[in-house]
Amino acid sequence: MSKHAWIEPGAFEVAPGVHRIPLPLPMDGLRAVNVYAVEDGDGLVLIDSGWALDEARKQLEKALDDIGFGLEQVHRFLVTHLHRDHYTMAVVLRKLFGAKVSLGIGEQPTLNAILNGEGERHLADLVRWGAADLADELRGAYRGQDAAESLRLYDQPDEWLEGTTDIALHERVLRAVPTPGHTNGHVVYVDAAEQLMFAGDHVLPHITPSIGFETARAELPLGDYLDSLRLVRSFPDMRLLPAHGPVAPSVHHRVDELLQHHEDRLGATLAAVQGGEHTAREVAEKLGWTSRQRAYKDLNLFDRILAVGETNAHLDVLVVRGELASSLVDGVLQYEVVRPAAAGR
Ligand SMILES: [Zn+2]
Repeated sequence: MSKHAWIEPGAFEVAPGVHRIPLPLPMDGLRAVNVYAVEDGDGLVLIDSGWALDEARKQLEKALDDIGFGLEQVHRFLVTHLHRDHYTMAVVLRKLFGAKVSLGIGEQPTLNAILNGEGERHLADLVRWGAADLADELRGAYRGQDAAESLRLYDQPDEWLEGTTDIALHERVLRAVPTPGHTNGHVVYVDAAEQLMFAGDHVLPHITPSIGFETARAELPLGDYLDSLRLVRSFPDMRLLPAHGPVAPSVHHRVDELLQHHEDRLGATLAAVQGGEHTAREVAEKLGWTSRQRAYKDLNLFDRILAVGETNAHLDVLVVRGELASSLVDGVLQYEVVRPAAAGR
């Protein structure tokens, strides 16, 4: 089976009463987002909703029709996080059909910033990471966009999920578990009886999720992410139902790979600073990107922004671990190796 077979449109029953529905995305990097339709009483609960695009909505309607449901029978959206490929279709469909939308409370600061028209606040982060050129390029790209159109896609949820919360549906209980890291308010939904984890972007089978790509970024997003990986590793093993990629048999197996990946990246990041690089941007230029180890300069704008943010997240964890020290020089964060004092002198 081809690596991308999972993006084929349709509704695929992956567990009794649980259907995986891949929906299209406008940028081809991620290819598609999985929405999971869970049969519940006489209707459906959707985990994640897709990006509010006409084509995605048509595919969702068709897939639901294939399993005998209409959009109006979706009575609830349980969303894993605020990114538009997960949240925005829920907002649009709620206006038409009145479904209830739930989201983790850690997304509140970023959502409020977007609704207050401060979505560009993260440009300041790029400057601190030594990538003012990316901030300028991005500002140029935003200029072409209709801000009102972008705002139309966002609104408050009906319910903020706070802490670990058991959500009783008609025929099953889903436990919402906060897993900050990919975003500050990311949650996964666990069906313990069926041994399923609806993992959103927290654990993905083929790629590593971006870390802290959001307007109101956490202090230490990679530290949060590693803690959240260890948290789900402490649960009994379950099947992995990810938002991007095919269903996989073991959450534990993939979490172990992701933890190892980040230890390797932390090692490479430290080596780059030891080699004389000082800013997140300089270090990003020394590292390979994506599974194909592409050079930073060959990445598109969006991926360069993710790369620099990702590098900053790793540098900051090395600071917390005592390997590096950081200081702000002319508005740019500079990282230095902390040399252990020589013994006996
Ligand atoms: Zn996503």
